[in-house]
Amino acid sequence: MHFSNLGLSQNIVRGVRAVGYNEPTPIQAQAIPVILSGRDLIGIAQTGTGKTAAFVLPILEKLKNGRGLRCLVLTPTRELAAQVETSVRDYARFMQMHYAAIYGGVSMGPQIGALRRGVDIIVATPGRLLDHMNRRNVQFSQLQILVLDEADRMLDMGFLPDIKRIISALPRKRQTLLFSATVPIEIEQLARQILVNPALVEIGRRTTPAEGVTQFLYPVPRHLKMKLLLKILQTTATTSVLIFTRTKNGADKVSRILHERGHSAAHIHGDRSQSQRSQSLHGFRTGRYKILVATDIAARGLDIEGISHVINYDTPATPEDYVHRIGRTARAQAVGDAFTLVSPEEEEIIRAIERSLKKALPRVTVPDFDYRAAAPPRSARPSFPRGQERTFSRSRRGHNARR
Ligand code: AMP
Repeated sequence: MHFSNLGLSQNIVRGVRAVGYNEPTPIQAQAIPVILSGRDLIGIAQTGTGKTAAFVLPILEKLKNGRGLRCLVLTPTRELAAQVETSVRDYARFMQMHYAAIYGGVSMGPQIGALRRGVDIIVATPGRLLDHMNRRNVQFSQLQILVLDEADRMLDMGFLPDIKRIISALPRKRQTLLFSATVPIEIEQLARQILVNPALVEIGRRTTPAEGVTQFLYPVPRHLKMKLLLKILQTTATTSVLIFTRTKNGADKVSRILHERGHSAAHIHGDRSQSQRSQSLHGFRTGRYKILVATDIAARGLDIEGISHVINYDTPATPEDYVHRIGRTARAQAVGDAFTLVSPEEEEIIRAIERSLKKALPRVTVPDFDYRAAAPPRSARPSFPRGQERTFSRSRRGHNARR
């Protein structure tokens, strides 16, 4: 299967090739012809499946002739909006297309300027778009296509009323595309209200991690997690590491300590300002920071190439979050490792994750690490699950794996 067989014109296929993609991913192969046919679509797909190109490419095809604001893409976060905008720029590089990303946390001025000059596509977060709508900076009379990207996430973040207000300002006759990783009841209801006879394309509901991710558990008493993390970073060959914490405070603390220990680390979470988040992300993407510490929400939908390691400093809350987190590495056929530090209190969620993956994850101990250090007297022994005494050496990183 080639992009040129999907009904895309030469300039668009050239744009995709220039980015380095030769073959469409499954969601692209299925969704692109449907979108080109004009039908509404529900795409059940996570980030990492190639869903952005699955809607951007046919939209470029449909908009290639003509002018005016004809497509609106709504996303839950500024980061995702910026990412979708980058995709539009990349794929449209051999054609004339005007577009703008509209999101909060940055000044309105340049966005107003772009809207006045005229755009074909807007990629926006709901809140800031409504600000512009209230000020009459934007009008949708020519709109043909609406995309809701990561719709479940937008609902989680409380954007449903905003989305409904935005949709009420759009022409009723339009094509609507809704992408969501999950389909909770609220999404079903929304889909019934705003889509007409949609085609359903469901791709790799990733209940299993991408191939190429090697996963290890590092059982450790809670109070030794930071020490173990430092030891792992010291003894493992990494190029680019994404570390997850459960809380914003945790992200602050881990990043600060890593920094104090001489690691180049940045962090992102919901309480940081847009410029701080952008600066951290940009620094991580460009290699200035080797480590990025993030909470689940802040990292949602992030697409960063070349992450060699995902480290779960805290276990994720659900098996789905686990798969989502470790999906940040080994994207698009690369390889990567995912490590999870597991305190005894977190064993239960690990068991749920293993059940969901239908396999036991290998448990690893780090040689020369004092698992008994500074333990409170009553629980001085590190707690490992029983029956996992057999050890063997993983020479690549010199840690001992227990299965
Ligand atoms: P997405 O699901 O849109 O976040 O895309 C996930 C990743 O896959 C991004 O890094 C894309 O650049 C990449 N990607 C998208 N389409 C393809 C393709 N056809 N072949 C290889 N990688 C792709």
